[in-house]
Amino acid sequence: MKFGFSLDYYAVNHKNHHLGSRFAAQTHATYSMQVFKFGGASIETPERARKVLSIITAHVESPLLVIISAKGKTTNALEKIAEAYFREDAEEAQRLFAELEADHIAYAEELLGTREHAVFNKLRECCTEISWVLSEPHGREYDYYYDQIVSVGELLSTAILAAALKDQGIHTEWTDVRDIMKTDDNYRDANIQWEMTEQLASTHFNKAFATHQVVVTQGFIGSTDENNSVTLGREGSDYTAAVFANILNAKRVTIWKDVPSLLNADPRIFPNTVPIPEISFREVIEMAYYGAQVIHPKTIKPLFAKNIPLYVRCFIDPSLPGTLIHSKPEVKRYPPIMVLKTKQVLLQVYTRDYSFITEENLSRIYNLFHDCKIKINLIQNAAISFVACIDNHPERLEKLLEVLQKEYDVRRNEDLFLFTVRHYTQHVLKEELKDRTVLLTQKTRQTIQMVVR
Ligand code: ASP
Ligand code: MG
Repeated sequence: MKFGFSLDYYAVNHKNHHLGSRFAAQTHATYSMQVFKFGGASIETPERARKVLSIITAHVESPLLVIISAKGKTTNALEKIAEAYFREDAEEAQRLFAELEADHIAYAEELLGTREHAVFNKLRECCTEISWVLSEPHGREYDYYYDQIVSVGELLSTAILAAALKDQGIHTEWTDVRDIMKTDDNYRDANIQWEMTEQLASTHFNKAFATHQVVVTQGFIGSTDENNSVTLGREGSDYTAAVFANILNAKRVTIWKDVPSLLNADPRIFPNTVPIPEISFREVIEMAYYGAQVIHPKTIKPLFAKNIPLYVRCFIDPSLPGTLIHSKPEVKRYPPIMVLKTKQVLLQVYTRDYSFITEENLSRIYNLFHDCKIKINLIQNAAISFVACIDNHPERLEKLLEVLQKEYDVRRNEDLFLFTVRHYTQHVLKEELKDRTVLLTQKTRQTIQMVVR
């Protein structure tokens, strides 16, 4: 079939892999598959989902891998269910889950225009599995249950969209990504087992695209060796798209969003934003790392490695050009790019006996942060103190404080912001800091970071 691709290609790919060149630049793009990623907002309502369907059906001339998130705010709703379950409020968890199930059934019925469809059985099956989880007492850690419960959002949304595509006559395969996206058991932030995933994904997609135009699968989720569900971290669907694009040597990835293009700042926070038509991988990875919720920070590396361009386009108006992200944009000067990360905590760690913060102390403190799974967003150290700006994960923070306070004095400040500006100008800083108190500043020629209140 015209959209199949050759096995030879995979032989080459695997050979390269054994040479350790998974992340080596690709020189021969041997086939022309592309990857689309649709986030929750793009399928929030059946009307929006119809737009998504029309975008997909307009791009089936070459193999198309479609990665979809849970619809709308489903992941947030599932988080609430996981919380209720874990605090042993089984009734509330079941009630909320029944609501979520009914909502998906109604959505599917509206989109498909019928209740007589095989997909309803599939939806029920997925939901029954979760009901079982919710009806049993918990004997493991929260993060494990979180992943078993939350992962259903993507299974439901993709099943519905795949069914709708099939109904439109598109040869569509629905794939349970947990069969091919293999990870460790670091629940809620699982790490991909590349070798295994590469092998499974190559074989699976090769077969699927031999007879289908479109493969629809889930972003954000995967599974362990023991077939437990995992998640890759909130907003992780972008990352899934990039991982498969890397493995399959896609010619491009397109992330469809509700904004016309990438902007230099979040318009919900900053009133005067400007669009960015073209931008480098480097710039985007910095923005994302500092907390811009534009693209999941892990997305860029697998694309950069194979030099696969990333497009951000608007599902509301697909005629808009959007933003092109790649290695060598011809950009002379970027506008100031601003990111405000909320819910920050500033921890000041002091040695008790006035001993210096030496490399030894530092590495001990770092390890404690690492053990508690706390990522440091910014650090500064002085003679007898160490300051770290971190995200507020109350549970992890309490654990960290407990161990830190065995050896050090610790002060903390909560409800702060981490404000990062790349390509800053004095004018922008003056404007943006008008009503804020700055607690800590770090700057290089290109980037300024401030912890502010
Ligand atoms: N549904 C997940 C989330 O809301 C993953 C994603 O949207 O990328 O975080
Ligand atoms: Mg999302």
